[in-house]
Amino acid sequence: MENCLFCKIAAGQIPSSKVYEDEQVLAFRDIAPQAPVHVLVIPKKHVSGWYDAQEENDALLAKLMRTASAVAKMEGIVDSGFRVVSNCGADAQQTVKHLHLHVLGGRAMAGEMA
Ligand code: 5GP
Ligand code: ZN
Repeated sequence: MENCLFCKIAAGQIPSSKVYEDEQVLAFRDIAPQAPVHVLVIPKKHVSGWYDAQEENDALLAKLMRTASAVAKMEGIVDSGFRVVSNCGADAQQTVKHLHLHVLGGRAMAGEMA
């Protein structure tokens, strides 16, 4: 999609620090990390948010979650623990309207989620 930051990152038009990539998904380091490990997992195909995801995307959505776990393994935070966050819409402070998971870890998270 034109003028979508994460579509441009997925297409390699904007550089990113890649952690994992295959035909369907890309994982890259957040530019403003909020934890020692802060990786974003995105579908290469543009999906604006969970509310926009259609049934035909079910396999892709499952793949995103599996990739988040694989990233945690690659980053060595499975045993210490990690948090997967996805912000949807204004109240959740979603700033980039291209579906993404935040994989956060490397330190103890706050007990409250919000
Ligand atoms: P959201 O706020 O939509 O849940 O998450 C968007 C995330 O994208 C933020 O954590 C922000 O730091 C990150 N981000 C914004 N612009 C860029 C960029 O150009 N490169 C990378 N790697 N991350 C970005
Ligand atoms: Zn996009």
